[in-house]
Amino acid sequence: MKNNGFLPQKLDNKFSMCTHLVGGCVEANQLRALTDAAEKYVAGHVHITSRQGAEIPFVDMDDVENITEDMEDAGIFGGATGQKVRGVVACQGITVCNHGLINCPELAARIDEIYFGTYASKKFKIAITGCPASCMKPQENDFGIMGVVRPEWIENNCVACGLCEKICKADAISIDNGQLDIDSNSCIFCGECISSCKKSAINGAESGYAIFVGGKVGRFPRSCDKPIEFTDENRLFSILEKTLAYYRKYGQDGERFGDLLDRRGFAEYRDTVL
Ligand code: SF4
Ligand code: SF4
Ligand code: SF4
Repeated sequence: MKNNGFLPQKLDNKFSMCTHLVGGCVEANQLRALTDAAEKYVAGHVHITSRQGAEIPFVDMDDVENITEDMEDAGIFGGATGQKVRGVVACQGITVCNHGLINCPELAARIDEIYFGTYASKKFKIAITGCPASCMKPQENDFGIMGVVRPEWIENNCVACGLCEKICKADAISIDNGQLDIDSNSCIFCGECISSCKKSAINGAESGYAIFVGGKVGRFPRSCDKPIEFTDENRLFSILEKTLAYYRKYGQDGERFGDLLDRRGFAEYRDTVL
């Protein structure tokens, strides 16, 4: 039952059906199928989870097979539970959000296709957020991905209006005598200066990804580590692959990734994987 996404409830013979939705994306026909199934098999109730999933609770044991078939006809399959990689969560990113720097749902779909439901020592959560505003809280996931952009000043276009200096929440920009300086140590690569400049005097020289590892909440929360401030897509995929391989090799049964980092040391992980 668990392998197909059905979790036992408090009530005997009642199960909550967890569905696998990637990056918070669901088609209209799938929403219809969910509501149809909720009305057909339970009291018309669907629960939206904290990880962008949809659950149908109160499914009777006798209806499990039929509701599974109805959902699969609409392209909705059971979610992952237990010692597996969970469905990837994501914000809408660059195609919808003004602040977005990467296409989060598209990246989520590609990562999910490779890793969803594969073995891990315990649950392994991946979140993708489109910019440093961090709406998807990548810092609270086993593997968090954040879209970033490196700003570059175009001197010839700049009229030294000072707007970018005021906009930058990291105080990374200073203008002195018509010369603009971007402090790369303070910059959080959010791209707000790029979108705010009306003279196209700051470009996005390079887009990429920041990576967080080992974050979790739950009974014993752990702050994430941040092994990578800025990398490209090839390296992102490589690091994710190696991180999961590291977790599978060294993780003890039931050990979360952050706890593994604490046991073996973040530096050892970093040296092995990076
Ligand atoms: S993280 Fe950034 S891109 Fe994603 S929803 Fe929030 S503000 Fe928009
Ligand atoms: S907002 Fe644009 S034009 Fe104004 S100081 Fe910044 S870079 Fe120059
Ligand atoms: S990218 Fe963000 S943090 Fe960096 S200089 Fe521009 S506004 Fe400031």
